[in-house]
Amino acid sequence: MAHVISDACVACGACIPECPVDCIKEGDIYVIDKEACIDCGACAAVCPSDAISPE
Ligand code: SF4
Ligand code: SF4
Repeated sequence: MAHVISDACVACGACIPECPVDCIKEGDIYVIDKEACIDCGACAAVCPSDAISPE
């Protein structure tokens, strides 16, 4: 299981420092590496756009 980022992402960067396994990559829309994500939910808790949810 992994969390995923939707096109509601506004590329604010708030999720990056929250990830304990550093699996979120920057871009026009940020992307979570599904193989590395441990599904902890820390990123979703800080997203101002509610763009991150469980897959
Ligand atoms: Fe990182 Fe946890 Fe978010 Fe997965 S759910 S991308 S491990 S902070
Ligand atoms: Fe995108 Fe949300 Fe991460 Fe900000 S916190 S970069 S809006 S996914």
